[in-house]
Amino acid sequence: MTEPRAGLKVGIIGAGPTGLAAAYDLARAGARVTVFEAGGQVGGLAAGFRAEGWEWSLEKFYHHWFQTDSAIIGLARDLGVSDKLMWPRPKTVIYYKGGWHTFDSFVTIPLFLLRHFPLTDFIRFGLAGVQLRFSNNWKPLEAVTAAEWSREHFGERLYDVLWRPMLVGKFGEENLEVVNMAWLWARLHTRTTRLGTFEGGFQAFMETLAEAVAAQGVTINLNTGARQVRQNPGGWTIETSSEPGSFDAVISTTSPQAMLRLAPDLPAAYRDQLTGLRSLGAVVMVLTLKERLTDAYWHNLPKEAGFPFLALVEHTNYIDRSHYGGDHVVYCGDYLPAEHEYFKLDSEQLLERFLPGLQRFNPAFDRSWVKNIWVWKAEYAQPIPTLNHSAKLPAIRTPLNGLYFASMSQVYPWDRGTNYAVQMGRDLAAQVLREVKPAA
Ligand SMILES: Cc1cc2nc3c(=O)[nH]c(=O)nc-3n(C[C@H](O)[C@H](O)[C@H](O)COP(=O)(O)OP(=O)(O)OC[C@H]3O[C@@H](n4cnc5c(N)ncnc54)[C@H](O)[C@@H]3O)c2cc1C
Repeated sequence: MTEPRAGLKVGIIGAGPTGLAAAYDLARAGARVTVFEAGGQVGGLAAGFRAEGWEWSLEKFYHHWFQTDSAIIGLARDLGVSDKLMWPRPKTVIYYKGGWHTFDSFVTIPLFLLRHFPLTDFIRFGLAGVQLRFSNNWKPLEAVTAAEWSREHFGERLYDVLWRPMLVGKFGEENLEVVNMAWLWARLHTRTTRLGTFEGGFQAFMETLAEAVAAQGVTINLNTGARQVRQNPGGWTIETSSEPGSFDAVISTTSPQAMLRLAPDLPAAYRDQLTGLRSLGAVVMVLTLKERLTDAYWHNLPKEAGFPFLALVEHTNYIDRSHYGGDHVVYCGDYLPAEHEYFKLDSEQLLERFLPGLQRFNPAFDRSWVKNIWVWKAEYAQPIPTLNHSAKLPAIRTPLNGLYFASMSQVYPWDRGTNYAVQMGRDLAAQVLREVKPAA
């Protein structure tokens, strides 16, 4: 149990899952916490929006939890809202030889493999799968690329159909020989077939957390971007668009690029580590349709098959459409470098690119089915874990006393996710309480 720190003043930059989880524990331990959020709502990348007539909010970027997400489940318990977690078992399909195949359980995965591949491939899949699922020893796996390891252990055929498309889709052809195997280990190690959400959507969960934080006396300043953090004789100053604040400790939960701008006094070696972190952005189009497009939730799409996006997610095959005014809700998403042309296109232009792709899911699909379009873009959306990544990560405690940096890149070896953000935020709160003393 961390000792209460009455009077400790902590400034937190960002009201996403990391910032709010840290604020929650710090405030409960007696610290005086202020949160600065550049955007107009809490939730960060997990935030949602609500169209007219919708009872629930919808995540701007598709989101779900896994049943192994113990930090989220624990936080929901602490907040007294465990009964609002929901765990449906939606259908996931992959595209293979021009058709869709269910690929989401201990029944459908073996059936797919036995139907389309030699028995030896099936056995290799089982052996490599069991090794990844049950071994906790991820460290040696970061010294080898995911492409190399999976080619060797699953065999060329399965690599070509399962892992290569996933790696190319998520990180691009140019990063195929860069992403380390610990990343794939982390995915296969923890994922479950039941997928979780919160009654009302992720935004409702984030707002429940924000309310609990505010109830502890924390001020959450929305629409208040931090411009710079600077050391002062007693601690730290956060300069914002409103009044600057003075703190004993500062936690920044921004992207590494934003951190470089925020804290110009960071030593060169730490700045180099921030600069060295690689990532991709995300462009996601949300469509409401008059008709149902498919019968599955998640569609994994190989880039080779010529789809204009990486994933098609029919949200209302997961969550009942009655919560969205009866609309059918579909996401088309892709991970892309920030200079990709999709970042420059407006919604109509992007829809024109995506329409031929949508037709391939359902020949009856027609432009007239589209009721509304929203496009959401984020430049820092998917960290790229390269070989021996752990040695390159900037420490959460920066070399400047009292300044902490906690981003999606640092939840490694886990892939970024709200569960790991919450875990990191809570661990960081405990660390700050141990390490920082209030100014006398
Ligand atoms: C396409 C996509 C799909 C995803 N799918 C899932 C999923 O299925 N399940 C899951 O659990 N997770 C998913 N995630 C990941 C999840 O959203 C992130 O892991 C999580 O939001 C990270 O939380 P964070 O608080 O660290 O960062 P963020 O959510 O990015 O929050 C950081 C906050 O800091 C604010 N900020 C930035 N700069 C400043 C500044 N200068 N001043 C003030 N505020 C600032 C931002 O506005 C933001 O609100 C997905 C992400 C994407 C992009």
